[in-house]
Amino acid sequence: MTTISIPRGKYHIWTVGCQMNQADSQRIQTMLDELGWEEASMEQANLVVLNTCSVRQAPEEKAHNLLAQLKRAKNERSDLLVALMGCMIGNQKTIDALEKRYPHIDLFMKVEHADILPRFLEERWTLISGAGCLDIEFMPDASDETTDDEIPVFPDLPTFATSTSRAGKRTVLPMAITPKPGERIAHYPTKIEPAKASPSAWLPIVLGCNKVCTYCIVPYRRGRERSRPMDELMIEARSLVDKGAKELTLLGQTVEAYGLDLPDQPDLADLMTNLSEIDGLERIRFMTSYPRHMTDSMIERMAHLPKVCEHLNIPVQSGDDAMLKRMKRGYSLDEYVERIERVRELWPDITLSTDIIVGFCGETEEEFQHTLDLLEKIRFDVVHVAAYSVRPGTVAARWEDDVPLAEKKRRLHAVEEIQGKIAFELNQSYVGKVEEVMVEDTNMTHGRQQLKGRNRGNKLVFCPVPDSTSSEGQRVFQPGDFVHVRIERATAWSLQGEAVVL
Ligand code: SF4
Repeated sequence: MTTISIPRGKYHIWTVGCQMNQADSQRIQTMLDELGWEEASMEQANLVVLNTCSVRQAPEEKAHNLLAQLKRAKNERSDLLVALMGCMIGNQKTIDALEKRYPHIDLFMKVEHADILPRFLEERWTLISGAGCLDIEFMPDASDETTDDEIPVFPDLPTFATSTSRAGKRTVLPMAITPKPGERIAHYPTKIEPAKASPSAWLPIVLGCNKVCTYCIVPYRRGRERSRPMDELMIEARSLVDKGAKELTLLGQTVEAYGLDLPDQPDLADLMTNLSEIDGLERIRFMTSYPRHMTDSMIERMAHLPKVCEHLNIPVQSGDDAMLKRMKRGYSLDEYVERIERVRELWPDITLSTDIIVGFCGETEEEFQHTLDLLEKIRFDVVHVAAYSVRPGTVAARWEDDVPLAEKKRRLHAVEEIQGKIAFELNQSYVGKVEEVMVEDTNMTHGRQQLKGRNRGNKLVFCPVPDSTSSEGQRVFQPGDFVHVRIERATAWSLQGEAVVL
């Protein structure tokens, strides 16, 4: 192998989609920063990384638009490389189709394989920038035997097609890890450490998903669940805290599945217990929850860990049993409600958010009404609602998308309206209480500095910086600081108050 020395360039990372994608982009950014590359606008960058999302149609269309723009840019510029990552990358078949449509993409990359990025730049950027040639040992490419109908058991190997472009012949690059049958290694480039972590940092703990929800493309694109080893996570968490993180959000598509595939099967609460020992780490959050993996023991242990924040994001998607079956969510409505009731018993101050899809294939008015009934029954703090859009490659893509767009929009607004009322009522119960808030942002509003942050229950809180005559007035507030706020007003979306000294 060659010693890597890469001439510097400029990069731009475009990110859409979920927190997992944001966390992945942070990793790529760290890696490029460590290589001495400089962040720039898309127009100025030598490397544009598109971190894509296929969960809904709109973000995928945006990526296609950008790829078309980048194709034009590449025709005019010889110093531009384009890399694609995220959910648009699936198996070899998907990559082949994308490559045929966009031959100007230089790199298809999964985040698990991000440690090949320096090698890619070494090979391609060094040639483009004229800084010399390289000596790379090659390993054979792996064949990909999955089809769109199967969930890949292992993450696909990094793939570099051997087509010829203006910048030279593309090359099959060496693999860092070749998973063998029976091994499910969630390989993340562990050496990636941010120079400076944001006070709220992401920690992906389970990659992929083993569920087969009929509307969802994620398992086809991100593969099966692979838990990252506890030791690796502890090292990364300590590093993030050393670099400034005060709050870690543990990420997984079904986060309570953590550890099921590891040799000694630790669970999410075990991981949180270990993370709680890290000095300087103040808050632990986690998402996304799945009711069937959430055991009583797990909930009880999490509820007793002071650093674990009282907030659960637990998508239900529909309030109707027939719909849940069509969606293949893997639980009945009764099971879901039973889990919520149990969580509320074991963790009394918990706040809840959920996801709802309206207008899924065949959704009748009655089925939709059951979703509205569920919202009234559970009274979630936050509801993320989306109108169903077909995702090619999913099971549901073979079914008729038969709810008209106007009806989907009507149902979406109906959910928003009911939820707005519920959230407003729930938030009134905070008025008069003092909440611990971690500052996320400071900005000027009406000539006075305003703090924006979240309480432990994940509610957005705003308060003006105390004036200079108060005891807190001399403090300079930064993201990551903690402040106590007496809540004076509440809307459906946020709480507002004044900072107080306890
Ligand atoms: S649980 Fe269902 S919706 Fe969530 S990522 Fe897995 S397949 Fe998709």
